[in-house]
Amino acid sequence: MGFLESSERVMERWTTNLWGFLLPAKRERGEAVAMLLRQCDDNALIVGRQRVVVRTAGHVMGAEVLGSIEYGVDVLGCPLVVVLGHDSCGAVGAACAALEDGMAPAGYVRDVVERVTPSVLAARAAGRVEPEEILAEHIRHTVDLLLDRSRVLAEKVAAGRAAVVGLCYRLADGSAQLVAARGLDAAVPTAS
Ligand SMILES: [Zn+2]
Repeated sequence: MGFLESSERVMERWTTNLWGFLLPAKRERGEAVAMLLRQCDDNALIVGRQRVVVRTAGHVMGAEVLGSIEYGVDVLGCPLVVVLGHDSCGAVGAACAALEDGMAPAGYVRDVVERVTPSVLAARAAGRVEPEEILAEHIRHTVDLLLDRSRVLAEKVAAGRAAVVGLCYRLADGSAQLVAARGLDAAVPTAS
């Protein structure tokens, strides 16, 4: 099974798992139940029956990505936003390499690296230098940045009508670990 297909399944399991916690209170309208901000590939917004998917390298966010997420949450009524990072992420690796070398990559890859770099620096400042620790920091950072930048989403989370979680996907076995959760008032069941 390929990465994209496998990570779709992870998404399916998690959203099914979280459904019981979130949706009775938080679902507002429409068919969309979760949004996946996922790494690597194009910035594609796919409005499916159950999920809105926004993909960027290193799950970085610019205005269009934030707009796509707000569209999913506010217009389509998605109560759950999932930031799904993965190990061996090339975008995180590129940011680490750029810091090591002191060289920014060319073209728009630089924009991706520049958006990942604060996470790498924060991890380093906290003494977290292992790749999985840096990735977890970047996922947490993305979750917090989402809520910091999107007033629409922050207000829904504050009102108890939406939640944001960050998951770390493992390529080797297709499992995912929860590394951040905002707006969940109950303990989250583990899913692998
Ligand atoms: Zn990646």
